Amino acid sequence: MSEKKFYENGLQFECQRCSACCRHEPGYVFLSKNDLDALVDETGLSEQDFLLKYCRTVDLGGIKRISLIEKKNYDCIFWTEEGCRVYKARPVQCRTYPFWISYLEEEKDWKDLAKSCPGVGKGPIVSKEEIEKRIAERQDEQMLTV
Ligand code: SF4
Ligand code: SF4
Repeated sequence: MSEKKFYENGLQFECQRCSACCRHEPGYVFLSKNDLDALVDETGLSEQDFLLKYCRTVDLGGIKRISLIEKKNYDCIFWTEEGCRVYKARPVQCRTYPFWISYLEEEKDWKDLAKSCPGVGKGPIVSKEEIEKRIAERQDEQMLTV
């Protein structure tokens, strides 16, 4: 029998469109091959030009991944006053936030997240099935390494 999760009855979440997860603080938006393909299509650039213009390599203790770059103020390179410039092709990391396994192992982590993501605890209930679908969507993606 699988272990009972604290989100067995779902979790309340509704994005408040504050953009806090896209800007102000340094971070990484890692790309999968599918993400890269979608972003290349969306921007109309060649893969090489896209990588040169919008990406950087991040060394995670031996594993090198590809991340989007940030502006000098730490906003994501694709963030604009109107929102995400590549919204339709936004990476899986963005699409599945905040339903990341790192916030869903312990109830405390989910509750703490409300300090930085005001959508936590607001709006309708997102079901356990939907939460697990988002977790799987991210885990199923093969992240790019170099
Ligand atoms: S921080 Fe949370 S509420 Fe704000 S835009 Fe991101 S997901 Fe939405
Ligand atoms: S790609 Fe779009 S959704 Fe993802 S962090 Fe950048 S601006 Fe936000």
